[in-house]
Amino acid sequence: MPNRSEPTVESSGPRLEVSLSDLLVDQELLAAAHDAVASGWWSMGPRVAAFEREFADFCGIRHAFVVANGTAAIHVALLATGIGPGDEVIVPSLTFVAAANMVRAVGATPVFCDIVGPQDLNLDPDDVAAAVTPATRAVMPVHYGGYPCDMDALAPIVVGDELFLIEDAAHAPGASLHGRRLGTFGAAGCFSFFSNKNLPIGEGGMIVTDDDDVAERIRLLRSHGMTTLTWDRHRGHASGYDVLIHGFNYRLDELRAAIGRVQLARLDDNNAARGRHADRYRERLAAVDGLVVPFARDVPGGRSAYHLQEVVLPEGIARDAVRQTLAAAGVQTSVHYPPIHTFQAFAADAGRRPLPRTDAVAPRLLTLPLYPHLTDDQIDSVVDALTDAIAATRG
Ligand SMILES: *Cc1c(COP(=O)(O)O)cnc(C)c1O
Repeated sequence: MPNRSEPTVESSGPRLEVSLSDLLVDQELLAAAHDAVASGWWSMGPRVAAFEREFADFCGIRHAFVVANGTAAIHVALLATGIGPGDEVIVPSLTFVAAANMVRAVGATPVFCDIVGPQDLNLDPDDVAAAVTPATRAVMPVHYGGYPCDMDALAPIVVGDELFLIEDAAHAPGASLHGRRLGTFGAAGCFSFFSNKNLPIGEGGMIVTDDDDVAERIRLLRSHGMTTLTWDRHRGHASGYDVLIHGFNYRLDELRAAIGRVQLARLDDNNAARGRHADRYRERLAAVDGLVVPFARDVPGGRSAYHLQEVVLPEGIARDAVRQTLAAAGVQTSVHYPPIHTFQAFAADAGRRPLPRTDAVAPRLLTLPLYPHLTDDQIDSVVDALTDAIAATRG
């Protein structure tokens, strides 16, 4: 079977096919999946429990709950902290739509805040401070591309019993700030294990918290509000059950938990490999006039998970033309993200606050290939193709 990670070299020239992200499948992963299937217990069971314990220990936090996906993690985190109708939740507009959708799903209002600028795509703490009203119940920052938000500046804004910090840490498993894992700074941290994320298992997510009460509500919300699990009843630990609150089925199965345990053990190494690739991109792209590679190489005291390799194209460059030229050269790119306030479904929320830096940077954003087993040759070919594409667009 061909190894998908091997670049296809076309006989016509040195052209490399470089996809945006790629999964490495090996014997250890296959064996873990095989064992889970062969065990004959497929729903939530011992592998899920072990994955949760290992993830909690990895984060240095008391509780971790695996859920069906990262969006479910955000949904449950909002409900577990009591957020609902009449409440405002501060979110960035420049992120994936899941967080804003879930704010709406619980009946609350998303309040979009601006980014710092082209050098730092994270939430601007000053704009967050200016957006807080008596109705604000949560601030939900995203660690963009795995790079830590300025938590030192955000933390003093999110104070009191009625205002919660909920981290959308979908990009940031394994990243840290001041020796503390991202996702552990607030009332809850939400992770995604989607196929193209840093800890891929297909579909899946995790919520972490140090708060025992929030943890208990997460446990109930994940599984129909029921007091006991099938697994406990199977082991004879419980016979009946009660339903305490209106919950969901957001559980994960043993097969994906087994894959998750293998991926978790590799996470630090994989993030380090991503970091080396990000360094190479940064070095090589410094020569491109007018191009910005967002985020500092090292935030003081911080370590990124290097989830996304973003660039901000020089002003006046037609992004679609650049993307087409790159595609023709065998380089897949993407856009993270079209701002949420530009979507039809959020038209009612769009005008609430001006977002001048988001509006200015968003049309220039481009995401380049990044995954742990990317090669230096592939990175160089991406940089060369991008340099040529920009030059061609300039004419
Ligand atoms: C991927 C992602 C999510 C949602 O995760 P899913 O597992 O796809 O539901 C939420 N927020 C951000 C920033 C993401 O990138």
